[in-house]
Amino acid sequence: MFEAAPNPYLVPFDGSFDLGDAATAPPDDAPGKKGCKKRLEDQIDELRDLQRMLYAHDHHSVLLVFQAMDAAGKDGTIRAVMSGVNPAGCQVSSFKVPSSEELDHDFLWRSARRLPERGRIGIFNRSYYEEVLVVRVHPEYLGGQRLPDRVPLDQLWRERHESIRDHEKHLARNGTVILKFWLNVSHAEQRERFIARLDEPEKNWKFSSGDVRERGFWADYMDAYEDALRATSRPWAPWYAIPADSKPYMRMCVAEIVVETLRGLGLRYPEATAKERQKFAEMRALLEGED
Ligand code: ATP
Ligand code: MG
Repeated sequence: MFEAAPNPYLVPFDGSFDLGDAATAPPDDAPGKKGCKKRLEDQIDELRDLQRMLYAHDHHSVLLVFQAMDAAGKDGTIRAVMSGVNPAGCQVSSFKVPSSEELDHDFLWRSARRLPERGRIGIFNRSYYEEVLVVRVHPEYLGGQRLPDRVPLDQLWRERHESIRDHEKHLARNGTVILKFWLNVSHAEQRERFIARLDEPEKNWKFSSGDVRERGFWADYMDAYEDALRATSRPWAPWYAIPADSKPYMRMCVAEIVVETLRGLGLRYPEATAKERQKFAEMRALLEGED
């Protein structure tokens, strides 16, 4: 089973993650904007080749989960990191407020249907983690879920964390490489980005007053994130808490983690067997014999 390599942004597996210590800004020695962009380009080139090999090798699938507060830059990161990858080998799924059909199933159902096939990369823009994040911050949403038992809320979140851990372990055992990114934007930077959405006409379409309302629940979201990351970061399904106040740095970090992980899988193009090579020789002779 795949296991995460060390990384400064890897969330520890022993529940000791302290969100207060998680950086939102790049370290002092980080490359500048240009340096980050250059490194991102190099990673994208490598990712293109690795993805082709992932497809040919056909034993693993890769699931990238993105979670963040609004305006942290999920969409732009997904776009930038996957920009070089063959679209046929990659699928992005966004999870918004669940439909009534989705609410008629368990909370993992809708995303389970979107899991990547072997050889493919699947990206979740939000995910089943919303069930222990936005739903935890607004437990009134549980009313629409028609759960059979009324259990105390603390127990419910604990049970959901357990379900998620079990689900991810099952996927990992069966060849899915899961990487989860929490794009950690600061409260102050989110405010700047919301203001830019109001001030700049070409960003107006991104503005939502609902997002400003959710900002009012910041502390509750941070508690829910801290708990979820502690409970579900595991070697086979690691979380990375990526500083998100600088977009170029964030994108570079995400790309590096994806590339390093794929590199570590020992992917290779399948080799032809002796029997197949014999067949190739026959086919070649046949083609050459055509007039
Ligand atoms: P963007 O704003 O960039 O288009 P987004 O992911 O923020 O992307 P929105 O339509 O603005 O998309 O918001 C989706 C909303 O759906 C979010 O507020 C999210 O918390 C909410 N959501 C997602 N999953 C669930 C869930 N299981 N239950 C309740 N709300 C959910
Ligand atoms: Mg939104």
